[in-house]
Amino acid sequence: MTSTNQTLFDKSQELIPGGVNSPVRAFRSVGGTPIFFKKGLGSKLWDVDGKEYIDYINSWGPMIVGHAHPTVIKAVQEAAANSLSFGAPTGLELEMAQLINKLVPSMEQVRLNSSGTEATMSAIRTARGFTGRDKIVKFEGCYHGHSDGLLVKAGSGLLTFGEPDSGGVPASVAAHTLTLEYNNTQQLKDLFDKTGDEVACVIIEPVVGNMNLIVPHMEFLQTLRELCTKHGAVLIFDEVMTGFRVALGGAQALYNIKPDMTTLGKVIGGGLPVGAFGGRKDIMQCLAPVGKVYQAGTLSGNPVAVTAGLKTLELIQAPDFHAKLTAQTQKLVDGLKAAAKEAGVIFNAQSVGGMFGLYFCEKCPTSYHEMLQSNKEHFNQFFHSMLDSGIYLGPSAFEAGFVSAAHTDEDIANTVAAAKKVFSLIK
Ligand code: PMP
Repeated sequence: MTSTNQTLFDKSQELIPGGVNSPVRAFRSVGGTPIFFKKGLGSKLWDVDGKEYIDYINSWGPMIVGHAHPTVIKAVQEAAANSLSFGAPTGLELEMAQLINKLVPSMEQVRLNSSGTEATMSAIRTARGFTGRDKIVKFEGCYHGHSDGLLVKAGSGLLTFGEPDSGGVPASVAAHTLTLEYNNTQQLKDLFDKTGDEVACVIIEPVVGNMNLIVPHMEFLQTLRELCTKHGAVLIFDEVMTGFRVALGGAQALYNIKPDMTTLGKVIGGGLPVGAFGGRKDIMQCLAPVGKVYQAGTLSGNPVAVTAGLKTLELIQAPDFHAKLTAQTQKLVDGLKAAAKEAGVIFNAQSVGGMFGLYFCEKCPTSYHEMLQSNKEHFNQFFHSMLDSGIYLGPSAFEAGFVSAAHTDEDIANTVAAAKKVFSLIK
């Protein structure tokens, strides 16, 4: 009998390209049929056929307090009753700006929008307006959303599909984007020596989550900070994924490096569409209506979405929230490493805060090039067998995983127990 899931996917493919509204959801990298969900609660998900899963995707990051958290849901219901949108300022937006400024002090001024893509695109436009320069620098395997100039050697779904560049992006646009290897300090120095004074900004995932998890070398980040300052280039930390997740103050707090601008998304909306970009006041003052850099949004600062974000940010400020999240994520990583070792599978794993990376290779990779050494077939086998056992991981070897505060010791133990069986089958 055909499952409800299969019927939905078959029909979806007729009306929606690939049957999905965002490419990585399609399971193209791992093969098989994507799971259609109907309910989530805490660390658990239920698909349309009633099967239960422990969720390690968490909507790709936002659900840091777990699905359908009662405090968040109640606040959203109350906000919704006051109208879904005004298209005019509200006190909620001020509250959010104040909270962002408190938790991420480098964001002296902030503007809200509705996605990470908008946040990075607008941050770059602002940096270009501020510096009067065109060139931008990014790193291979880092994904910063799908605006034209950033789809150059990007990560996430683009790596999954082996398409380093997207169709539909004019070469003349991509020509302004210079790409360097992540963690390669020498390349960085060479580029700045040559063209540093033409660089408007450098955008970076301060911990990468879009070519699996890649941890930065301290020396690399510090050199980047120094070179940007020396050459008057704006340093943008894209903390859409790492913000409020690797630490309460994001990666910039964890590594004690102050960027000029920061982009946020995911957790800041608690599962509803919110993005934000902000930073030094002198830079942010370039934005319309004060300055000449245009940026806008009908639903920017949407009251219901901002409410979900505010409640989520309230919950994650609980004492020890991040210490517990970090410990729980580390417990998962340790358990999986031990299980792989017992089964004799070449495997490694690591975590930063509530983000983790799983690699089917000896050492944790430090660049896109090294990440390519990971055994993709082993990952795919692992992914599917774990899925059959009710463990929902990212459907690609190039994605990081996410733990939420709702993940219990029992969830972790069940996941490791499932992995023990799965590793023993991998050949
Ligand atoms: N930047 C980073 C670091 C991301 O991980 C993502 C999304 N995964 C984006 C930007 C784009 O965000 P969105 O999907 O909300 O447009």
